Amino acid sequence: MNELPLEGFPAANENSAMVLLVDDQAMIGEAVRRGLAHEENIDFHFCADPHQAVAQAIRIKPTVILQDLIMPGLDGLTLVRAYRSNPATQDIPIIVLSTKEDPLVKSAAFAAGANDYLVKLPDNIELVARIRYHSRSYLTLLQRDEAYRALRVSQQQLLDTNLVLQRLMNSDGLTGLSNRRHFDEYLELEWRRAMREQTQLSLLMIDVDYFKAYNDTFGHLAGDEALRKVAETIRGSCSRPSDLPARYGGEEFVLVLPNTSPGGARLVAEKLRQSVEAMNIAHNMPQANARLTVSIGLATQTPSIGSHCRSLISAADKGLYQAKNNGRNQVGVN
Ligand code: GH3
Ligand code: MG
Ligand code: MG
Repeated sequence: MNELPLEGFPAANENSAMVLLVDDQAMIGEAVRRGLAHEENIDFHFCADPHQAVAQAIRIKPTVILQDLIMPGLDGLTLVRAYRSNPATQDIPIIVLSTKEDPLVKSAAFAAGANDYLVKLPDNIELVARIRYHSRSYLTLLQRDEAYRALRVSQQQLLDTNLVLQRLMNSDGLTGLSNRRHFDEYLELEWRRAMREQTQLSLLMIDVDYFKAYNDTFGHLAGDEALRKVAETIRGSCSRPSDLPARYGGEEFVLVLPNTSPGGARLVAEKLRQSVEAMNIAHNMPQANARLTVSIGLATQTPSIGSHCRSLISAADKGLYQAKNNGRNQVGVN
């Protein structure tokens, strides 16, 4: 397994071990200390007070606990259960040190959550081998958990990044509205839904009047700013979550209105036309002291089976053409 940093963990190397011996007899502590003294990568801690054992285990983070069973005041099995019920110590391997080979004591120890059972004082070779074995499997477990945690974090980051990317891919840089690509996708989707459900789908085609002249007079930057304001007004005229405003290209915008009748769409369009006019953006066309306005083409269709949404776009486009021809700053219905 790859080496992963085990944060705040003293024994971060797979081959190292941190032993905590909990035993009321200092003599046993001394004997084990001596037995481990010349072992490479094994740190040894001794706790003679069973009431301090859990707190000390939490502090020093052992990779193995050697637990005496018979201690004054607090018996070893109760302590084993205490390690197991504390989230900070619940997975630490526990080797129980018993005074005798007794099947009843042994089975009680394993039932309480011990991982191993040794009669003390065990032969040093066996003790070291078991310490190393349990320690290594514990560190491997921690590394695995850490790897999973890191994986979950990076999966979440990927999801977040994809969302941001999706939003960027779908939006128009100047106005923040949906772009043409997203509009095409959305209209197609809604067209098919309306076809399935036989509902009315409305589309507004919105074009800024005399915008070339606006650019020529006030400059391209002012033109951009005006487009942003018009876009905001279009956004503000959407009331349902399913309404989709988009920049179709240049100074042309569209508004998809699913499930909307001609009358409803007409209301939206008229309100939008008035809102743009009410922004009072000064313009010198069609005459001096004019205001910036939009012309809007409107179409509503209930898609027939096998039809294509192009027909709705072209109908709205015709409506727009009529609005322009009839003098602009108006809604043309087709
Ligand atoms: P009409 O009333 O018939 O719609 O006339 P118009 O001048 O608005 O139409 P035309 O299609 O001749 O000109 C559109 C202008 O919109 C030309 C172009 O410079 C300008 N335009 C398109 N995209 C942008 C943009 O992103 N920013 C700016 N500032 N101007 C743009
Ligand atoms: Mg145009
Ligand atoms: Mg125009």
